[in-house]
Amino acid sequence: MTVVISLLLVLCVLALFLPLLSRKAVPEFYISSTPAEDREREQTRIKAMLADLRQEYDAGKIPESEFTSMAAELLADLDRIAAVSKSSAKRSSKRLFCDECGAVRPPEVAACSQCGAEFK
Ligand SMILES: [Zn+2]
Repeated sequence: MTVVISLLLVLCVLALFLPLLSRKAVPEFYISSTPAEDREREQTRIKAMLADLRQEYDAGKIPESEFTSMAAELLADLDRIAAVSKSSAKRSSKRLFCDECGAVRPPEVAACSQCGAEFK
């Protein structure tokens, strides 16, 4: 009987602590970072890589052809990220407010509740 009780106790303790353990296993930046923050971090990383590349090119460590193709790739990445953040900012402001009267626009609603304007 005491074996059963102690087994139950161990199970209770495990049930209490397992969620804490598994939550701690997830790195904090996975929880707290937003897509915009991710993009910002990526942009900073690419800019740092560009600066490094420039330094290596200036120091004569890499040939000009390699430098230009690598720099073009990094710049294209920067453009892509900038385009994504621009379009998502546009989309979210469009989704949040009525174009006609500026009233708050709930998602999945076909027409404005304030002025009746149809949302496209
Ligand atoms: Zn409206």
